[in-house]
Amino acid sequence: MNAAVCSACKTKEAFFYRQYSGERLCKKCFTQSIEAKVRATITRYHMLNFDDHLAVAVSGGKDSLSLLHILAKLKRSRPKTNLTAVTVDEGIKGYRDEALDIAATNCKQLDIPHYIVSFKELYGFTLDEMIFRAREKGQTELTACAYCGVLRRKAINAGARQVKADKIATAHTLDDEVQTVLMNIFHGDIARLAKEKPVTTEVHPLFVQKIKPFCEIPEKESALYAYVKKITFQDTPCPYASEALRNDIRGMLNRMEEKHAGTKFTVFKALERLRPALEETAKKEDFKVCVECGEPSALVLCKACELLGHVR
Ligand code: SF4
Ligand code: ZN
Repeated sequence: MNAAVCSACKTKEAFFYRQYSGERLCKKCFTQSIEAKVRATITRYHMLNFDDHLAVAVSGGKDSLSLLHILAKLKRSRPKTNLTAVTVDEGIKGYRDEALDIAATNCKQLDIPHYIVSFKELYGFTLDEMIFRAREKGQTELTACAYCGVLRRKAINAGARQVKADKIATAHTLDDEVQTVLMNIFHGDIARLAKEKPVTTEVHPLFVQKIKPFCEIPEKESALYAYVKKITFQDTPCPYASEALRNDIRGMLNRMEEKHAGTKFTVFKALERLRPALEETAKKEDFKVCVECGEPSALVLCKACELLGHVR
């Protein structure tokens, strides 16, 4: 039997079968389809103004580097769009150091400025030091990811402000978004469910708006894009990776997708339709500034400062 032909160009040999759409694509048509999809997402959600300065959150993994390469390509046709890659250095020995080098190499190759914000400089401790101290003080119920997640969100916002970016682009994929939807449902967190969206609308002048141009790209395809484009990325997992519930949900969603192609898109779109109603229901958070650090916070003391209190 002959190898299948690409359903887009009808000439080259297909190497990828997109189960949810039935397309078979050659390498070139596959990468073009990803780039076109990202452009369409950016347009649909009005993510970019023509002269925006974007801080691209680059961890050094496949998703963030695929995003950086696609945005760099996009920039060539939008000369007024500015990009700066921002990497958070949490201070995870043997892991983040490697990622920083990989991120720097990609930025150099793409001629994009690279800015690093470190936990050590911002908070006085690396994540390794925080976890060591928290354990020493008998604080055991919070995982490293619980600290890291909160402190990283704050760091990326600070980094984006430091480089004077208008927006932050993150590489959350369709998989990340749908996992988060289900996690929020399992936690019963309706406020979060309403809040997590392709373009954030948190109202405080100190919050830099976040956009997610990969929210309609399955993680598998973002990885495949990196492979086909021969992008160098970090492949080793974080030594602290421990989000048990997310891992269970990831497994469940992947099994569902395998059996019922298109499941992830269906959940994503269902939430998009539900969101206006959710936003009506969820009470609006009233942001003040944290008494400790002066960053926006719904409470008197922000979550980051509360966590840092455990280790100081
Ligand atoms: Fe931080 Fe956890 Fe991610 Fe490691 S796995 S970088 S600790 S959130
Ligand atoms: Zn604070």
